[in-house]
Amino acid sequence: MPLHESLIGREFGYDDILLVLNNLPGFERHEVGLSSNLTRKVVLDVPFVSSPMDTVTGGKMAVAMAALGGIGAIHYNYRTLEEQIEEVRSVKIWESAFITNPVTLPPTATIRDVYALKERYGFFTAPIVDNNGRLLGIVKKSDVLYAEDRFPEGMNTNVTHKLVWTPRERLVVAHRKDTLDKTGEDGRRNVDEGIKEANRILRGVGTSRKPIETLPIVDDNDRLVALVTDRDLRKDKEFPYATKDGNKHLMVFAAVESRLGLARQRIRELRAADCDGIVIDAGVVFREQLEIARHCKEQTGMDVVVGSIDSGRMLEQVVSEVGDFVDAFRVGVGPGMSCTTQKDLGVGRAQGSAVYDCAQKAGELEQKYGRRIPIIADGGIRNAGDIVKALALGADTVMMGGMLAGLEESPGQPELTDGGFLVKRFRGMGSVEAMGIRSADRYAIDGAQIRISEGITMAVGYKGSAYAFIPTLAAAARQSMLKQGFRNIPEMQAGAEIVPRYLR
Ligand code: 5GP
Repeated sequence: MPLHESLIGREFGYDDILLVLNNLPGFERHEVGLSSNLTRKVVLDVPFVSSPMDTVTGGKMAVAMAALGGIGAIHYNYRTLEEQIEEVRSVKIWESAFITNPVTLPPTATIRDVYALKERYGFFTAPIVDNNGRLLGIVKKSDVLYAEDRFPEGMNTNVTHKLVWTPRERLVVAHRKDTLDKTGEDGRRNVDEGIKEANRILRGVGTSRKPIETLPIVDDNDRLVALVTDRDLRKDKEFPYATKDGNKHLMVFAAVESRLGLARQRIRELRAADCDGIVIDAGVVFREQLEIARHCKEQTGMDVVVGSIDSGRMLEQVVSEVGDFVDAFRVGVGPGMSCTTQKDLGVGRAQGSAVYDCAQKAGELEQKYGRRIPIIADGGIRNAGDIVKALALGADTVMMGGMLAGLEESPGQPELTDGGFLVKRFRGMGSVEAMGIRSADRYAIDGAQIRISEGITMAVGYKGSAYAFIPTLAAAARQSMLKQGFRNIPEMQAGAEIVPRYLR
């Protein structure tokens, strides 16, 4: 990309540069594609990643990001490992063609348990299974509404009460071989064909019965092996850009600590929960991360993101040592909105130069090794213009924290300020507050050491829903590329003219 000569060898941030309009656009905004590699194998239609920070990405944010074509990396600053795993699961079950690990209830469950399900996962419908996983019936929303008034025992009524559930004999079910395991003409499993068949059964095509909302899939022994829901099949149409895995489940990444001893179990459990990749979370890359990368890749095959780095030299060093085990680099030391690393420790770099330097090196190494390790520009994104600048400088995707912290889907509730504004809390993972939980590992600080804070806590304006915000941000990025006359990111990376904003 033509970088203005006065920028070569200089340090610059996003605010120090602009993109010159040199080409006459002859196409429409919707024709601009934003697809780009998150890792070597995962491609995002919208190259946005929500940061693994405890005021940014839990399950809800990760769902929104993936549904809208990006991806979320769930933070690990939970009090227990199980809590993080639950959040990962909530993404995986949010929308699936086949829900292969459905949440079920035992026949001893009460209506109160069904409401607890709703609280936890956002839905009421649950198959009832016995100890051997055999399907006994289904309970759904309309069965349990107004329980207090409808049943003498109210919320304590058992779900198998004849007025509550639909028992097995009255259920429409499908066999796994016709749906989940359906094969195409080539004899290989064909998920799309399987879904089509499930869809026909759900809608009651070719029968005289009404459409149903939930279709249980069973094996030869009548054991429940999967669920298909009408709600999910409709969501599939609603979110055409969604980032999905081979089973058509939303994809999700999760952060792990940079301590091998601690990370081992987390990695194992994340894999078991079908997590798609890990972000080995550290302020700055260090040697132990490389061991974790190797361990994760060898043991699980999950994608591995390492970082943070801010120089091509560091990138080369990591690639030369563990290149085979790294699927993406997180680039940026200290440009984040809640970071104080640059100020307090005097280390780091202007983010524009960090991205440019690392992307250039990734390109060089691609020539050498024949494969490119994608770059995630992490930190310092304040608007759509910064996103486009990062991509033009060579980033494959951008990671955002502060930009997304004010959204409805970030953890925590909005608060009302004196001035009558709604705000949400946002804090650096290196802030004293966040380190009080687990994230001290991120900064390689154990309990016995003096803690040096590398982040602050602040309030950010409440921004409403990600389902409105992310598409708007993506449209603004497309608009910027349209004005520059580029139809996609590689075209922009090859042709963008990047100039200093002010005379130097
Ligand atoms: P933002 O989008 O808010 O400008 O930057 C988000 C990034 O800041 C995160 O993805 C992470 O790399 C970095 N970060 C998060 N918390 C801290 C912190 O407390 N200190 C430092 N130095 N960086 C942080």
